[in-house]
Amino acid sequence: MKLLSFLLMITGVLVAGSGTVGAKPHHKKPAKAAAADDPDGKPVKKHHKGWPSPSAGPTESGDPELIFTFDDGPNPKTTPFVLDTLAKHHIHATFFLVGEMAEKPAAKPLIARMLAEGHIIANHTMTHQDLCRLKDEARAARDIDEGKAAIEKAAAPWTTVWFRTPYGVRCDRVDGLLEARHLQHFHWDLDPQEWKHNNTQKAIDYVEKEVGRMTGRNVLLMHDIKKATVEALPVILDWIETENAQRTTDKKRRIRIIQSWELAIDKMPPGFWAWFKDATPDPTAWGTALAASLP
Ligand SMILES: [Zn+2]
Repeated sequence: MKLLSFLLMITGVLVAGSGTVGAKPHHKKPAKAAAADDPDGKPVKKHHKGWPSPSAGPTESGDPELIFTFDDGPNPKTTPFVLDTLAKHHIHATFFLVGEMAEKPAAKPLIARMLAEGHIIANHTMTHQDLCRLKDEARAARDIDEGKAAIEKAAAPWTTVWFRTPYGVRCDRVDGLLEARHLQHFHWDLDPQEWKHNNTQKAIDYVEKEVGRMTGRNVLLMHDIKKATVEALPVILDWIETENAQRTTDKKRRIRIIQSWELAIDKMPPGFWAWFKDATPDPTAWGTALAASLP
């Protein structure tokens, strides 16, 4: 457990901060990305600061890499379908949970399922407010802390390390609040905006277009509370398989899906993973255990 705590600490610090280290943007960021993630569809003003891009650092393999993240859940009506689809395709994602969703009794088994199936759970605040626009800084602080507490109560004994602000906002206040809590914001690169239009075909078209032409490492933002996500995800994952089969025939670089726990391992200090692999007979099983333990 001591080792695990150490892993949580270094991965929590390193993963989300990786985008700052000499990373060149791999493509033009969609103009609306910084103001995205509003499940209520309210217009959100841009804030004066952006997050580093690409958000999870450059590609490690040289292949176009894709990381799946889901925000604003869990929702018993929609999240199980997203989990079914991810399980069918052996994908381990990160779920940025909202505290007031997580504290509902029906959420507890869903969170347990996420952990058991190797996904990472993370904090997306208690009530999903714009932390930069709240008048009272103490309220913003409470939204972060209460979200973490509610999620961790539902996920006990696991804790959360990764964090994403609602609407992806950034300002000096958010920087200060995160720094005081040793939290790093985990941003995204691709936003199909299904939180706004909830249109399945639009979401599919956007992801197929962007993932089809991406070259670097990209974090995809979707919402497991949206019907469009539930419906689009199986189509998108089938498309990736077909696309990769074609790329193999054409001798082109395949789209590589990065598991959330792989991202954690990638960002460990050089030599650490090699040492651990030597010390562990089955590194895959260890990775799954890490995923189940990582928030
Ligand atoms: Zn959100």
